[in-house]
Amino acid sequence: MRALSYQGPYKVRVQDKPDPRIEHPQDVVLKVTKTAICGSDLHLLHGLIPDTRVGCTFGHEFAGVVEELGPGVTNLKRGDRVVVPFNISCGACFYCKKGLTACCENSNPSSDIACGTFGYSHTTGGYDGGQAEYVRVPFANVGPMKIPEDMDEEDVLFLSDIFPTGYMGAEMGGIQPGDTVVVFGAGPVGLFAMKSAWLMGAGRVIAVDLQDYRLDFARKFAHVETLNFKDVDIVTAIKETTEGRGADVSIEAVGCEAEGSMLQRVLGLGLMAEAGATTALNWCMHATRKGGVISVVGVYGPPWNLVDIGTAMNKNQTLRLGQCNVKRYMPHLLDHIRKGRVDAKGLITHRFSLEDAPKAYDLFSKKQDGCIKCVLSPHA
Ligand code: NAD
Ligand code: ZN
Ligand code: ZN
Repeated sequence: MRALSYQGPYKVRVQDKPDPRIEHPQDVVLKVTKTAICGSDLHLLHGLIPDTRVGCTFGHEFAGVVEELGPGVTNLKRGDRVVVPFNISCGACFYCKKGLTACCENSNPSSDIACGTFGYSHTTGGYDGGQAEYVRVPFANVGPMKIPEDMDEEDVLFLSDIFPTGYMGAEMGGIQPGDTVVVFGAGPVGLFAMKSAWLMGAGRVIAVDLQDYRLDFARKFAHVETLNFKDVDIVTAIKETTEGRGADVSIEAVGCEAEGSMLQRVLGLGLMAEAGATTALNWCMHATRKGGVISVVGVYGPPWNLVDIGTAMNKNQTLRLGQCNVKRYMPHLLDHIRKGRVDAKGLITHRFSLEDAPKAYDLFSKKQDGCIKCVLSPHA
C-alpha cells in the first residue's frame, strides 16, 4: 500500500509499505477514506517528538471502512464506516473504566506516561498511523464509532481528535456563565475550543494568534473578538479589556512551537532555536486573573520547558492540562454536529490525494494559502 512516512526532520514522503494485517483477535484493518493533518503532526515533522523513527507512518485523525476483522471483534462488521479516536484504549483498565482513555494502561504498556496513539512515534507505542491506504486498528471493539448513514466521513472526521480536544480544553476551563475566555492559538484546536466556550456559556471569547488570516477565520467561524500579538502587547491588551484583572479562563492551544517570546524577538531566533517555547503558556498566566483557570491542550514534545510557574502560584490559579480522552466526547459532539450547532467540516480549506500529502504538510506548516485544515483522500 501507499503511506506517508517520516524521513527525518522536515522530511516526509509517500512510499510503498506492506499492507497492515490482523495481529491480534481484537484488531480490524481499516480502508482509510479520509485522513487529516494535525498541528500535532507538525511537532513530529519538526523532529520535536522523542523517538520518532524514520519510516513511521503518520496520521491519527482518520475515518474509513472496515476491511478485515479479527475473530474477537464483535461490535463491527465488514463494510462498516467508522471514525477512530486518536488514542488507542483497551476499555477495561483502571483508567479506561474512569473514562480517561488517554491514560490507558494497556495500549502502550512499556510507558507509564503516554498511552498508545496512531502514527505518533515509539514514545506512544510505535503504531503506524492512518495517512495511508490502510491502517491496523487495535482494540477495535472500543475506539471506533460507526458513522451514521446520513453523514459522510468529512462530517465526523474531526471527532477523531480536534473537536473533542477543543471541547475538553474549554471543559477543563470550568467556564461559568458570562466568563471571559481567551483562547491562545487560532488553529483548528483553538477554533473548536472557541466554539465550545460559547456552548458552555462564556460571555466573551477572545482569540489570540499572529496570523491575521486565522484571526479573520476565527471571527467568521466562531464569532469571537481577536487580538494579534504582533500588533499589541498581548498581556496589557487583555488586561485593558477586562477591567485590569485579566481573563477568567485561558485556553492554551499552541504548544511547544509557540512564537513571539521576548527571546525570539530580541535575538531574532527562528522556530527551531526555541523549540520548547512556552510563550503562550506564560502569557496565559500573566493574562488570566487571580483565581482564574488555565487549560492547556497544546502539546509539549521536548522535555525542557521554561514555565513561569511562580506567577501561577502567586495568582492562585488553577492549571489543568491533558491529552484528550476522545472517546468520551464523541457521542455528545456528534449531536452538536447533527443539530448544526457546529459546522465541523467548515474548517477544511484544502483537500489532497495521499500522493500530494508532502505538499499539504508544507502548506499547513508554513501557514500559507489561507490554510486551516488539510484533508487527504487515500483512495480518491
Ligand atoms: P496549528 O499549528 O494549526 O495552530 C497553532 C496556532 O498557534 C497557529 O495558528 C499559530 O500561528 C498560533 N501561535 C503560534 N504561537 C502563538 C502564540 N505565542 N500565541 C498564540 N498563538 C500562537 O495547530 P492545531 O492543530 O490547532 O493544534 C494546536 C496544538 O494542540 C498543538 O500543540 C497540537 O499538538 C495540540 N493538540 C493537542 C491535543 C491533545 O489531546 N491535547 C490534540 C490535538 C492537538
Ligand atoms: Zn490531531
Ligand atoms: Zn485501558
